[in-house]
Amino acid sequence: MKDKSFNLLCQVERDGLIMPELINLPNEVLTIIKRLESAGYEAYAAGGCVRDYFLQRNSDDFDVTTSAKPEETRAVFKDYRVIETGIKHGTVTAIIRGLKVEVTTYRIDGLYEDNRRPSKVTYSKSSYEDTCRRDFTINALLYNPKTGVVDYHGGLEDIKNKVIKCVGEPENRFSEDTLRILRALRFSSVLGFQIEDKTKQAIFKTKILLKKISAERIATEFSKLLCGNSVREILTEYITVLGVFIPELLPMNGFNQLNPYHKYDVFDHTARVVENCPPVAHLRLAALFHDSAKPLVQRVDKKGIGHYKGHAEAGMQLAVHVLNRLKYDKATIGKVKLLIQYHDDTILPEKPMIKRLMAILTPELLLDLYALQRADAASKGGKKSRRDRFIGASESLTKEIIAAGECYSFDCLAIKGGDLINAGLCEGPETSRLMKLLLDAVIDGKVENNKNALLDYAKASDEKNEN
Ligand code: ATP
Ligand code: MG
Repeated sequence: MKDKSFNLLCQVERDGLIMPELINLPNEVLTIIKRLESAGYEAYAAGGCVRDYFLQRNSDDFDVTTSAKPEETRAVFKDYRVIETGIKHGTVTAIIRGLKVEVTTYRIDGLYEDNRRPSKVTYSKSSYEDTCRRDFTINALLYNPKTGVVDYHGGLEDIKNKVIKCVGEPENRFSEDTLRILRALRFSSVLGFQIEDKTKQAIFKTKILLKKISAERIATEFSKLLCGNSVREILTEYITVLGVFIPELLPMNGFNQLNPYHKYDVFDHTARVVENCPPVAHLRLAALFHDSAKPLVQRVDKKGIGHYKGHAEAGMQLAVHVLNRLKYDKATIGKVKLLIQYHDDTILPEKPMIKRLMAILTPELLLDLYALQRADAASKGGKKSRRDRFIGASESLTKEIIAAGECYSFDCLAIKGGDLINAGLCEGPETSRLMKLLLDAVIDGKVENNKNALLDYAKASDEKNEN
C-alpha cells in the first residue's frame, strides 16, 4: 500500500493558507464523529463539506466516512433515527436534530460495470483507501477536530491554485464512472477552477462513454453546470463533450448568422446568453436552446442576409424533445417551452398585452422572459432590435400590475361562473364564453373588476346580443 503520509493542519498553514484551528462544521456532524470515535472507530467529515469550508461556501449536505461497518454504525446510533437507504454501498443516514448526515464505511470500489457503477464494494480499514475512490483531489479531503485536515492527494494545494484534478489516473477514473466528466465540468463552471491538463485530455478521450450514463444522472449535473458563473467558458471549450448527449447543440457551433443584428456565431451568442441569464436552471436551459433551430430554418436573401422565421417555435420543439429525452421534470420542461416560444416576441408596454401574457405564462415566468430577452439583447454585439427597446418599460409595467394586484386571469376575476348562472344570464357552455368576455373587458379596462359592475356588464352584453 502507498505511503500513508499526509498533510496536517500545521503544514497547511505553512503553505500560506489562512486556517483557523477548527473547521466550522455543524455540531450535529461533530457529535457524530465524536460518538463513532468514543466507540473505538475512526471518523472524518469527508468530501464536499470539507472542500466547501475552504471555499467559504455553504454546504447543503454533510458526509462522514468511518472505519465502522454499517451494522456497527447502526449500533452506535441506535438511539437516533437512522435510514438505511444506501446500506448496500455502506451508507447509513443518521438524522440528528433534523440534520441528515450520511455516514459511509471506508470503501474500496471494485471493478466498474458499464462505466457507471462498481460491481462490488469492499469495506476497508484505511481512510487513505477511501480517499482513493473519490473523484477529484478537492473532494478527497478529510477532517476531524483531532487530526485536522487530512489531505492525501494534494487537494488543498489544488483549492489554492483553483484546479480540478482527478485522484489517480484520469483516464481510468473517467472510464470507471463517466459521470465524473460532467462533475469535472460542473465544478469548473461553478467554482471557476481550471481543469488540469491530464484530466482535460482524458475528458476528451473518454467522452463517448457518456452515452452509457443514465439521463437522470446527466440532467442533475448538467443543470448545476449551467448555473455556474463560468458556464460560458465551459460551454465553449467543451461543446464536443456536451454534444455526446445533446448532439442537437452541435450544428449551432460556428454557424454564421449572416445578420447585422448579430456579431457572434449561434453557439458563441448562445453561450453568452446563458451566462447573462440569472443562474436558475429553467432560464439557463431556455437560453441554451432559444436559438437552437436557427441552423435548421435559415433562409439567406439576395443581399446575403440570414433570416430565421419560425426559429422560436422550432427551437421550442427541439428543446422539449431533448429535455424529455434527458428526463427533466414536467414543470421545468413547461417553463422552458414557454420561454423559448415567446423569446423573440416584442412585448409592448401596454397593460392589456402584458396581462394576457401574465395569464399564459404566470407573472413569475413573464419576469423570467424579460430576463431572457435582456440577456439575449446583451449578447448580440450588434444592433438593438425593436423588441429590445421595450424590455425595460414592459418589465416595469408588469411589476406595477403585480404590485397593484390588478386582475389578469379568471382566478382573480371578481365573479365566478356560478354567479352568472344564478343570475340567469347563462347556462352550460355559454358560461365560459361569458366569463371570457368579462375577463377581456376587465383586461381592456372596459369594466371594473367588482361583482356588481361585472353582472351589469354581462346583462348589457346579453341584451345587446338579443337585439
Ligand atoms: P455537492 O456540492 O453537489 O454536494 P459533492 O462533491 O459534495 O458536491 P456529493 O454527490 O455530495 O458531491 O458527493 C460527496 C462526495 O462523494 C464527493 O465530494 C466525492 O468525494 C464523492 N463522490 C461523489 N460522486 C462521486 C463519483 N461519481 N465518483 C467518485 N467520487 C464521488
Ligand atoms: Mg455533497
